[in-house]
Amino acid sequence: MKNKKNTNLRRCAFCGRTEDEVPFLLTGIEACICCDCALEANRLVKKALGEDTYEAMDTNANLEATDFSQTPQLDKVPKPQEITAYLDQYIIGQDAAKRHLAVSVYNHYKRLAQKGQKSSHDADEVEIEKSNIIMVGSTGTGKTLIARTIARLLQVPFTIVDATVFTEAGYVGEDVESILSRLLQVADFNVEAAQRGIVFIDEIDKIARKSDNPSITRDVSGEGVQQGLLKLLEGSIVNVPPKGGRKHPDQDYIHVDTRDILFICGGAFDGIEKKIAQRLNTHVVGYNSVQNIKKLDASDLMQYVQPQDLKSFGLIPEIIGRLPVLTYLKPLNREALRRILVEPKNSIIRQYKCLFEMDKVELTFDDEALDYIVDKAVEFKLGARGLRSITERIMMNAMYEIPSSKKRKFHVTREYAAQQFEQNGGETTLS
Ligand code: ADP
Repeated sequence: MKNKKNTNLRRCAFCGRTEDEVPFLLTGIEACICCDCALEANRLVKKALGEDTYEAMDTNANLEATDFSQTPQLDKVPKPQEITAYLDQYIIGQDAAKRHLAVSVYNHYKRLAQKGQKSSHDADEVEIEKSNIIMVGSTGTGKTLIARTIARLLQVPFTIVDATVFTEAGYVGEDVESILSRLLQVADFNVEAAQRGIVFIDEIDKIARKSDNPSITRDVSGEGVQQGLLKLLEGSIVNVPPKGGRKHPDQDYIHVDTRDILFICGGAFDGIEKKIAQRLNTHVVGYNSVQNIKKLDASDLMQYVQPQDLKSFGLIPEIIGRLPVLTYLKPLNREALRRILVEPKNSIIRQYKCLFEMDKVELTFDDEALDYIVDKAVEFKLGARGLRSITERIMMNAMYEIPSSKKRKFHVTREYAAQQFEQNGGETTLS
């Protein structure tokens, strides 16, 4: 018999009702929302922003319009160069990662197209194997942004999941299979479509085992989860709980074949530089590679990352073997941060200009004011994530006062920026 007060049931973080009290519960990374609250939230957002802005912001609109039930036609999908050109509009630099991703996604389409034609071809045709990807780069360098942006172009279901929520069966947390529940939800529970989908697994480094040696104690969020993930990456038929979360025996499962699902993994791999340095040193000693050492850029060792470093970090070799494309994202220097502030199609500065425009106010910035924002982000080691919070501090008062004033122009100088930043708490309130 169902126990309504069962605390193991997932609940809507907004109304508090449990999954057995609502028609449908959407699972997020750390919380769930029921269909009623989701619909209400949608209505409120529309009302708050106005119809036009709402439509303009609805970047997933084209996804909704996409019919996932058909296998994508190769001549209709974007080519790798078109994919990178699209990414360039939103993401500064990171060319290597963009290319790797574009090629992998395009090859994914090719595999699907080949499978679609299979029946009419010889049985001994070459079978294209899938190339799952792993992206390594410090936090805030654009891994998730690349994945999110590419998702808008795709004609297959796509979902982003966070590896930190998964634990080995029997412990508090979610089963690895719930990755596929999210993909199923995106695909509108069309299993065939989900089986062609792409999954971005963020924070894969957080499920590294704690030491390079196979564990003798239990490591419930590490090696066990990797074993579970391996099953998905290898390609197998998996029992998926349709609503995600933890599997339990009296539940109906959906069988999903993961052979054609493309997996893209991303992680910051904090501290992997040490492993890379160790490897480079041991390789160098005893060889005539003094010149090679000179050529190495010690300030950014991550660019030399190799699969064996991932192993030293704590990923099991079988997982690494299933992620044959290893790409790296550069740390963002001052110049990159400056470009991020203004260049992307929805850059932070453009967003503020847009906010002011809605009050019919023209917002402009001195170059020195922009440099100030970048300086602060560098000073507090906040990377691209910091740009937004610093700009917010600077614009706070103006955003409060301008709508009630008669001003039609607002210009931000370096002095104004510095004064506002200090006045609104400076670095003490930055997150
Ligand atoms: P990661 O997943 O690598 O930790 P994110 O992709 O979440 O980092 O980046 C955080 C934010 O920083 C993004 O939402 C974006 O605003 C900005 N950002 C980071 N890297 C870039 C980049 N290369 N180009 C443009 N914006 C970037």
